[in-house]
Amino acid sequence: MSDMDKQPSASTLPEAESADVALQHIIDGFMHFRHEVFPQQEELFKKLATAQRPRAMFIACADSRIVPELITQSAPGDLFVTRNVGNVVPPYGQMNGGVSTAIEYAVIALGVQHIIICGHSDCGAMRAVLNPQTLEKMPTVKAWLRHAEVAKIVVEDNCHCANETETMHVLTQENVIAQLQHLRTHPSVASKMASGHLFIHGWVYSIETSEILAYDAEQDCFRALDGAGPLPVATPKSRF
Ligand code: ZN
Repeated sequence: MSDMDKQPSASTLPEAESADVALQHIIDGFMHFRHEVFPQQEELFKKLATAQRPRAMFIACADSRIVPELITQSAPGDLFVTRNVGNVVPPYGQMNGGVSTAIEYAVIALGVQHIIICGHSDCGAMRAVLNPQTLEKMPTVKAWLRHAEVAKIVVEDNCHCANETETMHVLTQENVIAQLQHLRTHPSVASKMASGHLFIHGWVYSIETSEILAYDAEQDCFRALDGAGPLPVATPKSRF
């Protein structure tokens, strides 16, 4: 078995709680929110009760370790979030699913000015793209991840990666670039980008270090999002 075939086995995962204990944690959390947190932010929730004006749309992986509001220190109402396995955006016309619907709603109805696609380190979806044989019993995941296949081919054909760690790193970045390209096939996105009213961003977040690398379309590379220098953006210049 090569390194690439290694999958997390039951023995490498943290020990699972019983179903009852797991649910009790969630209920306890809700009780704490309701009685301790909510009263402190009541004004905000009153304002949000009838309207939202999010700053950005955030497309992230469903992975439990990625919490968009936490890593961007956003409050309720700030981010319009859609999450799925592999932070995938199906190209327009291929699928009228949840992601396409959320994009259209965010751009047209909510008028968001930024869409951020955020991949992450140690992504199980990316590992599955590299090892499709692990998806035999998951036909739906397999079909969904076909939207990430382009990234795999780009990496296989062009990157002479030294090991699986490097392949995963490059694949995760290439997947973000592929999904940015898919995003631009959506008419609502293409139109607002052409007129300079919408900006798109491709990020990769590191779970271990908290660093974010952002795609810079002008320099065609990923740069650290560290506040230094011009902000890396994936948006080409507007035409109108
Ligand atoms: Zn993931």
